Amino acid sequence: MTTKRLINVKLETGRLINEGQLRTSTALYTIDLDDTLITGIYLKDQEPIFTGPTIDIKGRLAMPPFKDMHNHLDKTYMTLGWRAALPVGSFPERLAAEASELPLLAPSTERRAKAMIESLMKRGINHIRTHVNIDPYIGLENLEGVLNALQHYDKFITYDIVAFPQHGLLRDKVPQLMREALRSGATMVGGLDPGGIDNAVERSLDEIMSLATLFDADVDIHLHDRGHLGTYTYSKWLDIVAENHYQGRTAISHGFSLGDVSIPEQDELIARLNEQDVKIMSTIPYGLTHQMPPIDRLRQGGVNVHLGCDGFYDSWSSCVSSDVLEKLSTFCELTGKITEEGLADSLSLITNGKQPLTMGQLTWPLVGDSADFIFIEAAASAEIIARKPIDRLVMFNSQILQF
Ligand SMILES: [Zn+2]
Repeated sequence: MTTKRLINVKLETGRLINEGQLRTSTALYTIDLDDTLITGIYLKDQEPIFTGPTIDIKGRLAMPPFKDMHNHLDKTYMTLGWRAALPVGSFPERLAAEASELPLLAPSTERRAKAMIESLMKRGINHIRTHVNIDPYIGLENLEGVLNALQHYDKFITYDIVAFPQHGLLRDKVPQLMREALRSGATMVGGLDPGGIDNAVERSLDEIMSLATLFDADVDIHLHDRGHLGTYTYSKWLDIVAENHYQGRTAISHGFSLGDVSIPEQDELIARLNEQDVKIMSTIPYGLTHQMPPIDRLRQGGVNVHLGCDGFYDSWSSCVSSDVLEKLSTFCELTGKITEEGLADSLSLITNGKQPLTMGQLTWPLVGDSADFIFIEAAASAEIIARKPIDRLVMFNSQILQF
C-alpha cells in the first residue's frame, strides 16, 4: 500500500541526437512508495490522486544507491583527529607498522567504524563489504566493534563482514581465530596473498576453501602478488572453486597480476573466471607504480567487476575519500571514457549492475524495486560520474537520511 509520494523526480528516459551529439533525455515523474518498495511510477500530471505525505524532490535526478564492495571499517583513524599514513619502505614494514598500533586502536573500533559508515551513507552507499582484521595481535576485538557499528545502521544498509587474516592465515592460531570469527558474526572468509604472505599457495587456498565449506560462507581473497605468482594463484583458486562447486560464491580483490601478463594469458583466465563466476573487486589504484587488472576486458568477458573505496584515512592511506563515485570517475579518466554513453555505462560498477538506461532503454527504477535513491542536481548520470557532485539527498528504505 502506498504510504508516501515523491514528486518532481527527474528520470532518464532515453538517448537522442541533439545538435549532432548524443544526449540523455529526461522527464519529471511522480513516484509512489510503501515502507520499502516502489509501488508506482507516473509521468508528472498523470498520477492518481493521493492525499498522504508528499516529498518534493525539486527536479533532482534519481540515481540507484551505490555499493562499496571493498572496505576496511576497522582501520580508519576517523574521530581521532588528523594523522597521516605511517611512512614505510616495504609491504612487510607496512604490516609491522600496523601491528604496532592495532592494540591501541582496538578499543575505539566501534566509534571509528560508525563515523566511516555515516560518511559512506551520506555519499549514497547502502551496501558495505568490509574486511575485518583477524590477527594474532588483537584476535577478534575489531570484529566485535565493527559488528556493533553495522548493526546500528541495519535499518538502512546491508553488509558483508569478511574475516580477514591481514597478517597471514597459516601462522600462530589464526585458522582457529578465523573459525571463531565465523561463529561470531563474520559472514565471509577472507585471505591474503597465499604466495607472498603465506608462502604456500595451495595450502593457504585449501585452508580458505575448507573454512568456507565448513561455514557455508562466501569468499573474498586479497591478491596483491604480481606477475606469474599472482596468475598462478588465480589459476589454483579457479581449480579449487570448480572442485568444490563454489561457482558464484567467491571474489578476488585487487588481482593486479592479471594486468601483468600477456593478452592470451589474460583471455584464458578471464574465460575461466567467467565460467566459475568469480568476481573481481577493484579499488582503482592509481599512480606511476600501480597496475590495474584489465577491468574493461574482464567485463567484456562476462566477469562481474565491482569497485570499493578500500580503507581510507588510516595507517595505509591518507588521500582516499569515502566516495566510491570518485573511484568510478578516476576509472573513467584512466581508461579514456569521456562520452555520454561511455561514462553512463560504467555506473553499474558501483551499483551492483543497476543503471537508469541499458542500451538506451529505461531499466531503473521500476515498480517493485526497493525504495533506495540518491537524488542529485544533474542533467544525466554521465554528468554525475564526470563531476562527482557532493550535494546528495539520500533515501534508503523510503526514508530521507538525516545526520
Ligand atoms: Zn583491502
